[in-house]
Amino acid sequence: MQSMQNMPKEVKAYKIGHSYDVRGLLISYQWVLQMAINEIWRNMSWVEKPWKNYYIVKKDDKAIKLLRMQGKEFRVNGKQIKVYYHAKRLIPEIPESNEFGKGLRNKLMAFWRHTGYAAHYVDSAIRMAYQVLRSWKANYVKGLRKRRKPIAKRLAARIKNTLFRVRGNKLVLTVIPRKLYLEFDFSKAWFLDRVKGWRVGEIILRKRDLIMMFTRERRSRDVGGVIGWDMNEYTMDGFSDTGKEKVSLRKLHWIHETYYEMRRKMQKLSRKKPKYAERKLERISERERNRTRDLVNKLTTMIARRYPNHIHVLEDLDKEGMYNRDKGHNRRISLQNWRAIVKALRYKVKVKEIDPRHTTRQCSRCGSLATIVDKRKVICKNCGLIIDRQVNAAINIYLSGRKLKHRKDLWETVIRPKLAPGDYCEKPAMR
Ligand SMILES: [Zn+2]
Repeated sequence: MQSMQNMPKEVKAYKIGHSYDVRGLLISYQWVLQMAINEIWRNMSWVEKPWKNYYIVKKDDKAIKLLRMQGKEFRVNGKQIKVYYHAKRLIPEIPESNEFGKGLRNKLMAFWRHTGYAAHYVDSAIRMAYQVLRSWKANYVKGLRKRRKPIAKRLAARIKNTLFRVRGNKLVLTVIPRKLYLEFDFSKAWFLDRVKGWRVGEIILRKRDLIMMFTRERRSRDVGGVIGWDMNEYTMDGFSDTGKEKVSLRKLHWIHETYYEMRRKMQKLSRKKPKYAERKLERISERERNRTRDLVNKLTTMIARRYPNHIHVLEDLDKEGMYNRDKGHNRRISLQNWRAIVKALRYKVKVKEIDPRHTTRQCSRCGSLATIVDKRKVICKNCGLIIDRQVNAAINIYLSGRKLKHRKDLWETVIRPKLAPGDYCEKPAMR
């Protein structure tokens, strides 16, 4: 992995259609990709590691008493109690040594040679196999995947730039060296002026189309500032070096609500007219996806334009996510929106995810956790600050993004001047 990791890159992907018969190549590719996955999977070592986990019980005095008696580790969190336990868990280690890589390539080549296709496809497949397994591992560690080998289902080949040349607005792909080349002309593509000065980094070949991934190094490497975002049901609340920011998510919510209703109506109908309802349902879901994607793109582009060269700090949802799943319809929508927004933001700005613990509860001025949190505000029992709940969280995320510790004088000099009078006040008794 060369510069990819450190140098932030911008990526754009566009599709062009083709009418070549590439089934043979795609099937062979899929097969060698699966073989690579199998080989790497077989050579993974599973290491037992200690694992701290928790489950949630409802808060009541009896439960607390019982937990104390049992000597269990727990933390009261609003109306819930988090009860911790220690377990051991097998964590996979993916073989990455050069030696293993060479052996893998030789093994795959022994089969691939008979197809006649260019040898570089094997390298692309190996790279792809590693990508698949790394992302599987990341999800497995988070508890989102089972210990089951990934299967290459899609008939698509991700192809490195060693297999194609771009000349002007033509892309020439090597299929069989010195024998078969495919030419893709994109001189009339609608996206041409959007990728001026970009280069084609990678392509994905599919049965009927080719996806071209254009990249360019992000123009300015220096990061101008930090903005912390607190995600809420209807708003994204930001706090940056220049002060507060609010982005409404109402429209996004409204889309989900509308289509949710439409789906429910269709589901009722499905008893009478199952075929019709099924077709309609599919179309409704597709339209919902498209509209959401468009809106998320619009929102994130606006954010990126307003805060270019900023590090955008957000809470890492998955840390809490797996335990909070399925808590009602609204929460599911919020989670879904959040994931989509973070994903889209990553393409446009630098994103940093932080541990979500305490961001709501902690007093942004003195850092105390002795607070009362209600729907709208946070009241600090330690320093007497009464502050808008969402503003408080955004400040905490901002401070964490700038690696600043909570300090009263810092709050007074840096934070307070950026707030509006209605955002906070002092608890009368504390004056
Ligand atoms: Zn305080």
